[in-house]
Amino acid sequence: MLTTLKRIVQQVNRIPILDEAIGHLVKRVKQTLCVDACSLYLADYHDQTLTLVATEGLEKSAIGSVKVSFSEGLIGLVGQREEPLNIEDAQNHPRFKQDNKVNEGKYNAFLGAPIIHQRKVLGVITLQQRAKRRFSDDEEAFLVTLATQIALEIANAEIRGALSSQPQSVDQLTSQKNLHGVAGSPGLAAGRGFQPEQQIVLARWQSRHTQNVEKSITDYRAAVEITRAEVADLSAGLADSIPEDVRSIFQLYNQLLDANSLGREVETKIKQQQWDAGSALKLVVEDYAARFASMEDPYMQERAIDIIDLSNRILRNIVRLNDNSQASVTRVVSQLSILLAEEVTAPMLAEFPRQYLAGIISIRGSNNSHAAILARAMGVPAVMGLNNVSPELLDGKDILLDGYSGEVIISPQQQIKSEFTLLIKEELELSQRIDLEANKPCVTADKYPLTLMINAGLSAEIEIQQHGQDVGIGLYRTEIPFMLRERFPSEYEQFELYQQILQSAPSQEITLRTLDVGGDKPLPYFPITEENPFLGWRGIRLTLDHPEIFLVQIRAMLKASVGQENLHILLPMITSVDEVEDALRLINQAFHEVSEELQGPGNLLVRPKIGVMLEVPAVIYQIPQLAKKVDFFSVGSNDLTQYLLAVDRNNTRVANIYNSYHPAVLNALSTISHQCAQHQIPVSVCGELAGEPGGAVLLMAMGYRKLSMNAHNLRKINWVIRSVCISEAEKLLPSILASEHPREVFSIVNHYLESKNLGGLTRAGW
Ligand code: PEP
Ligand code: MG
Repeated sequence: MLTTLKRIVQQVNRIPILDEAIGHLVKRVKQTLCVDACSLYLADYHDQTLTLVATEGLEKSAIGSVKVSFSEGLIGLVGQREEPLNIEDAQNHPRFKQDNKVNEGKYNAFLGAPIIHQRKVLGVITLQQRAKRRFSDDEEAFLVTLATQIALEIANAEIRGALSSQPQSVDQLTSQKNLHGVAGSPGLAAGRGFQPEQQIVLARWQSRHTQNVEKSITDYRAAVEITRAEVADLSAGLADSIPEDVRSIFQLYNQLLDANSLGREVETKIKQQQWDAGSALKLVVEDYAARFASMEDPYMQERAIDIIDLSNRILRNIVRLNDNSQASVTRVVSQLSILLAEEVTAPMLAEFPRQYLAGIISIRGSNNSHAAILARAMGVPAVMGLNNVSPELLDGKDILLDGYSGEVIISPQQQIKSEFTLLIKEELELSQRIDLEANKPCVTADKYPLTLMINAGLSAEIEIQQHGQDVGIGLYRTEIPFMLRERFPSEYEQFELYQQILQSAPSQEITLRTLDVGGDKPLPYFPITEENPFLGWRGIRLTLDHPEIFLVQIRAMLKASVGQENLHILLPMITSVDEVEDALRLINQAFHEVSEELQGPGNLLVRPKIGVMLEVPAVIYQIPQLAKKVDFFSVGSNDLTQYLLAVDRNNTRVANIYNSYHPAVLNALSTISHQCAQHQIPVSVCGELAGEPGGAVLLMAMGYRKLSMNAHNLRKINWVIRSVCISEAEKLLPSILASEHPREVFSIVNHYLESKNLGGLTRAGW
């Protein structure tokens, strides 16, 4: 059964046009289960109906015209209840509603399953039979499983249909499409979608028809010839270095390129069905590859990969023949753009010309992915986790992006665009007002001073300059410069970098965190493959296993601090006292080595202050023990939230569960603050929560007096702190900590911020 199901889903997925795919699906299900009818209805939320879009067994002429309201009939009931309905005698069911157009009077047995994607009913799939009988458990399980598997494809196809660059017959005004992702970095942005790195592969190729069959065939043949030459070059280049049997792969490539195999079928698809060259190739090749992949023989299964690889080469050559710039891997941007990528990385952001960067869309990732943190640090609005959309579809499109709510509007209508532009202008004005007062001391309205520091990593120099005054660094993420290189930086390279950072604000404390790679921060030159990377080899766990990396980094930090007294070293991902003891031992060793090396007048080496990140929940219960070992703590609310709520900070599917305003997280933060006060150890917060207006007020109410955030948020938080009173915030705390839901927390804090005229800063949930 599972194999049949897989095969049906695979076949359906390969059909690019949704209507055709669904038509094929109902036919195959009817055959496989030997039932009298199989039909599929798709939901239309505008008029609250389900439309018959495909059937085998009901009247075909009813397709497209029969619409059932959510509150009517058995189909509506399945949609409404969001569960399968298995009825022996449908005609006598109280919700049965006869529709003469579909001609279903002859059927008695009925089984319907909802098609649900991300909690939303997309449609209903039904089986019907003349006999009065209950469908078996197997049949029911089959239909439910099938419905879950096709849900994603239907959701995908809906989006693709609206975004594909095929000429649309409908009026351009109706082509606007709203998509919803996860709010990644606050702010509004408008620009043209731009994908700097395009990987042209069949899997992501948008199938389209052509008006010019002759040209498609010429393109295809020319691309095959270019590919043949490339393959010959590759084969010749490797001739001495690979064994004969591996070289036979190239012979297979040559056979496939032969006009009589792949070529004939591709050309037939172009001629008979008017697919363009790339689409015809995709259709033929995916069919071939599926046939090879389903063979028993592993050797033949492997060949599926060869066919795909070869065809991707042909596809790239087809694209190059038409537009050379499109086929190149990296493109040059020349207008205000929304950066698009499957996964936005630190190097990608570092390389993108800042003057053209209006906003960011990362198809994968979530609110606390490091890409989102970087976007916030740069003050660039971002939306993450726009699942089911490939960046190619958005490339070149006019895009509006709301980084507060996660909303993305593609090809907006003129009126919406004008409203959006107005909002962007207002936002700019507010930020200019805030900037004017950026240098005022950070003291609450009831005269309590707070220390604000910055989180840095991309370029401390620029980040400090952005702020424009002497400011400390509460967290310098040393992994980011490591990620921007192609190998581990040497001790000297690190020394130069750290010295520059320590000297940028000599009178302020500068906190350099030791390498925190792993999780969603990979080093290109030190790949780690793990099932569960956030619970794996990350931060201090990795560096203690590689003392050579840790020691070099500490030595570089110490050397960079000579003549200064502001170095603070912070240890990430600490879970146990053992790890702190091991790290301290290595730091001591490095200290003695560097002291000996530097002997001589003027080379004064001061012991740095050592701190621990509080971000793994276990340490909340070891504060007294840890406080004896180190000089300070810094709370990493990003990871603390992730680990306390057991929710991957990088996974879009569970993004709605990741919430630092969850009362459990807030209670943990409050406990930490009290315990630190009791054990008289300085504590700050360097997670993203500290840089949010509501978060900063709550932390302040809990007793935190030192907050570290990205340079971009610093001015905003300074403005907030100067407008609020600690005494008032403290009064809010008991009801906040006793809240049942994060939404209660939002409501209390938002209300307070609005009473202080700070509502403009708190759009859509901060
Ligand atoms: C945190 O976890 O809150 C933190 C500041 O560290 P990072 O976001 O780099 O994991
Ligand atoms: Mg962390």
